[in-house]
Amino acid sequence: MEAYVELQTIGRGSQGTVCTVRHVAEGAIYLMKRIHVVEHQARRAALREAQYLQLLQHTAVVAYRDCFIHEDSLCIVMEYCAGGDLEQWVARKRKERKKPSETTALRIFAQACMALEHVHAHRVVHRDVKTSNLFVARAADMSASSVVKLGDFGISRVLGATGDLAATAVGTPCYMAPELLDERPYDYKADVWSAGCVLFELLNLKRAFEARSMPALVRLVMRGRGIGFPVLDGAFSTDLRRLFATLLSPKPRDRPDIVEILQAPVVAAACDRVRDGYAGEASPPPD
Ligand code: ADP
Ligand code: MG
Repeated sequence: MEAYVELQTIGRGSQGTVCTVRHVAEGAIYLMKRIHVVEHQARRAALREAQYLQLLQHTAVVAYRDCFIHEDSLCIVMEYCAGGDLEQWVARKRKERKKPSETTALRIFAQACMALEHVHAHRVVHRDVKTSNLFVARAADMSASSVVKLGDFGISRVLGATGDLAATAVGTPCYMAPELLDERPYDYKADVWSAGCVLFELLNLKRAFEARSMPALVRLVMRGRGIGFPVLDGAFSTDLRRLFATLLSPKPRDRPDIVEILQAPVVAAACDRVRDGYAGEASPPPD
């Protein structure tokens, strides 16, 4: 803890407090989450899991810088994304009544997929992919050089695994796959469903699944195709509409895995543009 100076409280998440900190020796700014975990064993287990997440290193993933136990809390220090999250971005666009182009939405979706490929390859299921867990690290105008990062991963699983805080760790169910809502066994395909919900929201500036009550939402998600079930209308390219429909397959085995999604031509093309954007920013500007 001595390595950091607390700067500003950002908010109170579902799991604890969040603030910006400065690393004294480096001078760099990070975000620190402090999660109160009472039980000693649970705290050690959560720390071990959080340490595992430090292995995740990808431009499209919020990096975990450090984690340690301070007093009765698990402290996780991570990359700070100054551009806010995509839920805020969607809200802003909705207010301006400016739907993003398919290209812009795909630039964001492609980064979420690249992040998931990395996370899944490390045998981590995120479980809580949603617009409010995708952060803008660079270029909030979503121009070619924008960088969007998936964050908040694993922690709900981490804490769920310890049996501590599991109840409070459950976020909004709007993005949850049927098998998660139904408390059946789930795997990586649960994240694919959620990514589909994010894609829909980016394109339409409204959530894929919304209902007046929790039971109504669960019914809508569980029912599968039919009235009220999200589909992309004719305004979008055929390839994208086809891909989207597969993401929200009720049965996990009917959904493509993240590698297959990245191979879909619309997504692959978007990934190429994203990589050009990443590279373009890294090299010095031409004279
Ligand atoms: P929640 O439990 O609601 O998901 P979080 O603990 O994830 O809350 O986050 C609390 C606040 O901190 C939110 O406003 C979120 O946008 C912001 N936040 C979380 N992680 C980051 C990050 N890496 N960079 C910038 N802001 C972040
Ligand atoms: Mg969050």
